[in-house]
Amino acid sequence: MPRVTIDRERCKGCGLCVHACPQGVLAMSREINAKGYFFAHKARPWDCLGCRLCAITCPDVAISIGLSGTFVHPFDYEEAPWPGC
Ligand code: SF4
Ligand code: SF4
Repeated sequence: MPRVTIDRERCKGCGLCVHACPQGVLAMSREINAKGYFFAHKARPWDCLGCRLCAITCPDVAISIGLSGTFVHPFDYEEAPWPGC
């Protein structure tokens, strides 16, 4: 199962990833990080497809996607470990 990881301290609370996710996996937290921003968090992690749209969208590179135990850089398309991509 894909695993999305959000670095809450890098997040500036813009919400772009929440709108980018086609599965509704992400939402904005009611907590704030050390910078005072409401950070994004995983509200429905079991629905993640591993599509990486959230990671590509994030302007602060705060999101990583793990697939089968391997973390994939958001822009490393050449090394995508799943077929068809
Ligand atoms: S990888 Fe895709 S499905 Fe998973 S949280 Fe990001 S945008 Fe949503
Ligand atoms: S796109 Fe990045 S900076 Fe914006 S809310 Fe999502 S994780 Fe935070």
